[in-house]
Amino acid sequence: MVETAKEPALIFLFGATGDLARRKLYPALYELFEQGHEFAVIGLARKQHTHESYRSMVDRALKPDAVQRKAFLDRFYYQPLDILQPEHFAFLKNISDQINAHYHLKGNRLFYLSLAPRFFGLAAKNLKKAGLTETDGWKRLVIEKPFGHDLKSAEELNNELLSVFQEEEIYRIDHYLGKDMVQNIEALRFANPIFESVWNHRSIANVQITLSETLGVGDRASYYDQTGALLDMVQNHIMQLLTLTAMEPPGRFEPDDIRAEKVKVLRSIRPLSSDAVTNQIVRAQYVKGVMPDGTPASGYLDEENVAPDSETETFIAARLFIDNYRWTGVPFYIRTGKRMAAKSTEVVIQFKDIPNNPYLNEFKNIGPNLLVIHIQPDEGLSLKLNVKQFGDHGDTLPIAMNFISNSPKHQIKKHDAYERLLSDCLRGDSTNFTRWDEVAYSWSLTDSIAATWKDIPLNTYEAGTMGPSASDRLLALDGFRWWPLTRME
Ligand code: NAP
Repeated sequence: MVETAKEPALIFLFGATGDLARRKLYPALYELFEQGHEFAVIGLARKQHTHESYRSMVDRALKPDAVQRKAFLDRFYYQPLDILQPEHFAFLKNISDQINAHYHLKGNRLFYLSLAPRFFGLAAKNLKKAGLTETDGWKRLVIEKPFGHDLKSAEELNNELLSVFQEEEIYRIDHYLGKDMVQNIEALRFANPIFESVWNHRSIANVQITLSETLGVGDRASYYDQTGALLDMVQNHIMQLLTLTAMEPPGRFEPDDIRAEKVKVLRSIRPLSSDAVTNQIVRAQYVKGVMPDGTPASGYLDEENVAPDSETETFIAARLFIDNYRWTGVPFYIRTGKRMAAKSTEVVIQFKDIPNNPYLNEFKNIGPNLLVIHIQPDEGLSLKLNVKQFGDHGDTLPIAMNFISNSPKHQIKKHDAYERLLSDCLRGDSTNFTRWDEVAYSWSLTDSIAATWKDIPLNTYEAGTMGPSASDRLLALDGFRWWPLTRME
């Protein structure tokens, strides 16, 4: 994307002992080290560690074949710190100056808050108080999701952050934006004239975005029960997929031009009046069922740490419209849920049928052309076409042209989303991070839905299915159906 140089930096990793750091950030940093990024890391959390015991913890997070592990681990330092104790930040000044000088890191500082969101504002404030945000190099703040829990709380958090950092110094992570196939939506659209010329209401009948999980709430139940599918998935990941699919080509390939186009899409989503919400949104909770592999699954209300009378939705489907010239009249169907029949994230573009087509009477098997963008677990594209069967009087046959990058045919080296996003932060490319106005417009939309929750019936669906029948009716009203989430053969 944007060509920016690798620059040295001191990474202040808050939440250094946490799950995200161990599962994602250390392996990602190792890959970047192998690629020649210059950095040193100060790990920060309340647990007591020496530099050595911290390095052993980081070591355990690396792949067994990490050949440069010694040189990598030597760059890790640990400082015990409690966010709630401002005086702990004062100790950081000294150690960071020493590490900066030792590795010639030019005063560049990356503050990564891999912490519970309630600490974000306070951490920024304490960094400033301790003078850590005054430096000769650049400073950048990386924050994990969720960014607030509604527009008001997001605004409050943003104001706290803006009292310390400039907007362009804040990198709000939505790890979906680091995924290969999410980044590929732009390439697919803007590097392929055959798609861009039909990417509009004249040729597209509907767009379907699905983010389905087979897992239940597991050990995130107490968090999830306060959050639900709307806030957990729609406000962030699904809105990102929708804006990338629907946006206009940017005038220049610069972070702010791209993000401005995404914001225009969010601004063009038809506001949901309370009538529209009840007709266009389906919410549901899973009850016990059987997963496709035959494993029985308990219902949401029977999960540990879920309130027995909880009305939290574990599934949401919506029918949205984007009121602009390109998308007029095209429904965008979105759905996400837990304990569904398949784990998959896909965008399906259904093309319009040929009008007045005599072949439709002749051949029984003609189906719509579909372009499927497989985001995970498969990563690739499928294009579904109709061909005539071989033989004299053959019917048509649906076929799929597939490019699946994780198939054994294509041995492509994969980069994890966090590796890509951390590299972007170090290079100062903010394209794949959410700008404040994107966050604010997404919250406005989800707030308008949440405000009418009580008017929307809470359906149920059996664990191991693709959601309640009301979700199918949402499309059936327009004469459409959800397409199955499987690789098309
Ligand atoms: P976690 O496993 O609970 O880790 C939290 C970290 O914060 C620990 O290192 C903990 O260490 C530290 N901490 C807690 N209280 C502290 C305090 N008062 N002062 C200083 N440090 C404190 O959480 P996580 O799963 O890594 O998630 C971190 C962030 O990433 C969250 O915002 C989460 O929403 C986001 N996220 C996580 C994932 C994931 O897969 N895990 C995915 C997407 C987003 P001590 O107990 O030693 O202080």
